[in-house]
Amino acid sequence: MVSEPAITTDIITPFMIHDAPVRGRMVRLAQSISTIIARHDYPDTVSRTLAEVLVVVSMMASNLKDEGVFTLQVQSKGGISLLVADATHQGHLRGYAQFDAEAMASPTATDLKSLFGEGYLAITLDQGDASQRYQGVVPLEGNSIAEAIEYYFVHSHQLEVRIHVAAGKQSNAGEAEQWLAGGMYMEKMPDVLHADEDIWNRSLALFGTIKDAELLDDTLTHEDLLHRLFHEDGVWVYTPHPLFDQCRCSESKIANTLAQMGDSAIDEMQIDGHIIVNCQFCNSEYNLKADDIKRMASN
Ligand SMILES: [Zn+2]
Repeated sequence: MVSEPAITTDIITPFMIHDAPVRGRMVRLAQSISTIIARHDYPDTVSRTLAEVLVVVSMMASNLKDEGVFTLQVQSKGGISLLVADATHQGHLRGYAQFDAEAMASPTATDLKSLFGEGYLAITLDQGDASQRYQGVVPLEGNSIAEAIEYYFVHSHQLEVRIHVAAGKQSNAGEAEQWLAGGMYMEKMPDVLHADEDIWNRSLALFGTIKDAELLDDTLTHEDLLHRLFHEDGVWVYTPHPLFDQCRCSESKIANTLAQMGDSAIDEMQIDGHIIVNCQFCNSEYNLKADDIKRMASN
């Protein structure tokens, strides 16, 4: 009997260090981000940054309880002026960017400050109704997206976390461009009395040895990498969850948003009785009748 090859991409795998207040998640994306990136046709620097942010949001959303969306937005005065990515508790991912095409076509450096300049990082956690909406905003700090998120957790939640993210393009002759991105997240659980600082410090040291190549090696299973890193103290590796390229836009959602803008705004936007809306996340085009939207607004 031939066993199925293990799935190593487009999944997220939770883990926990044995008997220690240390837990984390590992993610590797391939098909999902390649599809998202192919849809947009951004310069490689922008695509890589979007891939990294998609890794981060997928790691954060997996911690949502039942239902919800984790959104990360970076706004800046630099080359990439806006980057938005979100992930749902079901593992649906989407994202887009706005940028200065000239500056991003041949960037001089790819650290956070060179890509974004001065900016802000906003995290939004939406768990259904308005009462469960949380937003935190911090200045963009650090040299990478990973460091900026670490800063956010320390600053806004007094949480000790470590994040490592990598992304890169694989070009095989004759094949469609394929992107790979991977990440690992680790946190010291704040609510556990078990105060073994040694294990946390040891886990931090081991976490520091993760190589980009390991996160991007799609022949290496998550379980094997986690055991390779943490075998000394032991690691529990949980069942992975799948991650997908999946936008949440729909004609009814767009019609609802337009209806709330009022008749005069609808009149301004319509051309020959139609309003054309493009979803920035997935490029889907919606063609709505202005009269239908006005009728919705009056109901
Ligand atoms: Zn969409």
